[in-house]
Amino acid sequence: MTNHPTPWTATDNYLHHHLVKEPPHLAAATKKIRATTLPPMEVSPAQGKLLYLIAKIANARRILEIGTFYGYSTMWLAYAVPDNGLVLSIELTEKFVTMAQENINDAKLSHKVKLMQGDAAKILNELIFDNVEPFDMIFIDAHKPSYPEHLRLCMRLAKPGTIIVGDNVILDGELSNTNNANPKASSLRQFIEDVGANPALESTALQTVGAKGYDGFTFSVVTE
Ligand code: MG
Repeated sequence: MTNHPTPWTATDNYLHHHLVKEPPHLAAATKKIRATTLPPMEVSPAQGKLLYLIAKIANARRILEIGTFYGYSTMWLAYAVPDNGLVLSIELTEKFVTMAQENINDAKLSHKVKLMQGDAAKILNELIFDNVEPFDMIFIDAHKPSYPEHLRLCMRLAKPGTIIVGDNVILDGELSNTNNANPKASSLRQFIEDVGANPALESTALQTVGAKGYDGFTFSVVTE
């Protein structure tokens, strides 16, 4: 993601300080990841707080996340669910799962979080096969070319009222550039068009600026 130093980052820092009030364990987890060479792929503190607030507004007890990374959004979501709630987060990269589990343990959230390592489509199909209880909220945030497939599978793990949030859908504005044949851009367009054409979803999307640059989310509620 492009790094925009000003004024978006400065404004985000101001908002983080006065509004977001990031839990210390989340700040500590981010501090650890910044000491590595891994790119800042996690949501910003303000975005994490938004996910937390959506989960709270929805009274979400069961949340599904696709793409854990070091558990930053996972932990925001875990803070939002009750003690008998669950955040099930799927991550392909084994070392990210290890890092995330450590952060989740440090934050004393492990009783509310289950991490599953592996290919998301495969795991989603297993969850469908196992007929697991539907999720109240789903956060799609893994491999962008897989978003259309992940959406299709997530619809089978949802119920009326389930909220589905898709991250990183704007691509610095490349989303609407139909000359951009990059599979990321074309898959995200497919995702947006699938979301829009699905009669079981009511949806919108918001473009965002901030510490993460120019990006955005889709928001949907399952209606049938
Ligand atoms: Mg993301």
